[in-house]
Amino acid sequence: MKIYLDHNATTPMRPEVLEAMLPYLQGRFGNANSIHGWGREAKQALEQAREVVASALGAKDKDSIVFVSSGTEADNLALKGAAWAARDRGRHLVTSTVEHHAVINTCKSLEEQGFDVTLLPVDEEGLIDSETLRRSLRADTTVVSLMHANNETGVVSPIAEVAELARARGSVFHTDAVQTFGRVPIDVESLGVDLLSISGHKIYGPKGIGALYVRPGTRMVPHLHGGQQERGRRPGTENVAAAVGLARAAELCLASMPAETERLSMLRDRLEGATLSRIEGTRRNGHREQRLPNTSNISFRGADEESLILALDLEGIAVAAGAACTSGSLEPSHVLQAMGWKPESHGGALRFSLGSGTTQDDIERLIDLLPAVVERIRAAAAGHTEPALALA
Ligand code: PLP
Repeated sequence: MKIYLDHNATTPMRPEVLEAMLPYLQGRFGNANSIHGWGREAKQALEQAREVVASALGAKDKDSIVFVSSGTEADNLALKGAAWAARDRGRHLVTSTVEHHAVINTCKSLEEQGFDVTLLPVDEEGLIDSETLRRSLRADTTVVSLMHANNETGVVSPIAEVAELARARGSVFHTDAVQTFGRVPIDVESLGVDLLSISGHKIYGPKGIGALYVRPGTRMVPHLHGGQQERGRRPGTENVAAAVGLARAAELCLASMPAETERLSMLRDRLEGATLSRIEGTRRNGHREQRLPNTSNISFRGADEESLILALDLEGIAVAAGAACTSGSLEPSHVLQAMGWKPESHGGALRFSLGSGTTQDDIERLIDLLPAVVERIRAAAAGHTEPALALA
């Protein structure tokens, strides 16, 4: 039996989501901008999906939801859109060292275009300090972007507090909620954010769809040019089936959230507790309480993450080292490094991210296997066995 523990990278689509989408991939294939019957039918489904997503985020106005192609695009639109719209007032942006590359690299690109970016540090547990944010705000700061939960550690930031600070100083506040949407309750009013990014494939929905919440009145310029779709904020023929899928996935996640939060945090704590107590030289990365219910990030002294991942993969268990998008290159995680982690002393770090299909049996099987796997990798690293045998 294979065990998938990489739900922060992506999730399997729920059958109910596919079922909701199918009519819009087949008979109801119309272009939502056409005025004939096919078009009106597609438009109606799109607007219904918008309503559901708005309500799932606690947004009062359904037109505050802009459908885009991914979480990455939502982050790009938020940052570039708000930064360029306010360029006459200032060109300073604030973000953090632990953001997803969709935010960090967008900021780098803005820097190349003449914007000034401040990267805020985090503490050893991965948390932002609001005093540090306060000190970084300047008269010309126009946009502040701090993620809701980190994809590698699961650490959840105190967004309401930092958003209030930034907005009181006249900045637009954006949060990347790609990892929190569908996992913890989100209310854009109580969080007090202007812009918020979400993605379909992290919540058992389809890939190729995301959304950006834009508080009414927030000044934005589009970064794509074309027609007037999405009220001119994101041109391009709308992906109606995927929007319908995102909305259905959100409904299902919201309905199961209280029970899933309890179930997953219990399984996560069981896995983490057993690993830390049974395997020497291990440590948890990230704040113990302020984090997602499904995520545990643990480092293993004397073992590199690539060998650990491959050895577990051979056992049919999928886990990750940090972010999926960077793991191919196996560069040390910028998130863990920002938290003071050093591969030489702390060892390779694994991210275990649980999801709706994860069972108690899965976790027990992993707990039984892990000590021997780690021991083999450590022995190989110390030169006691052939690397190939360590993977066996
Ligand atoms: N932001 C965070 C925190 C993420 O974890 C991810 C995906 O891993 C993204 C943004 C990008 O989302 P997408 O894969 O939909 O482009």
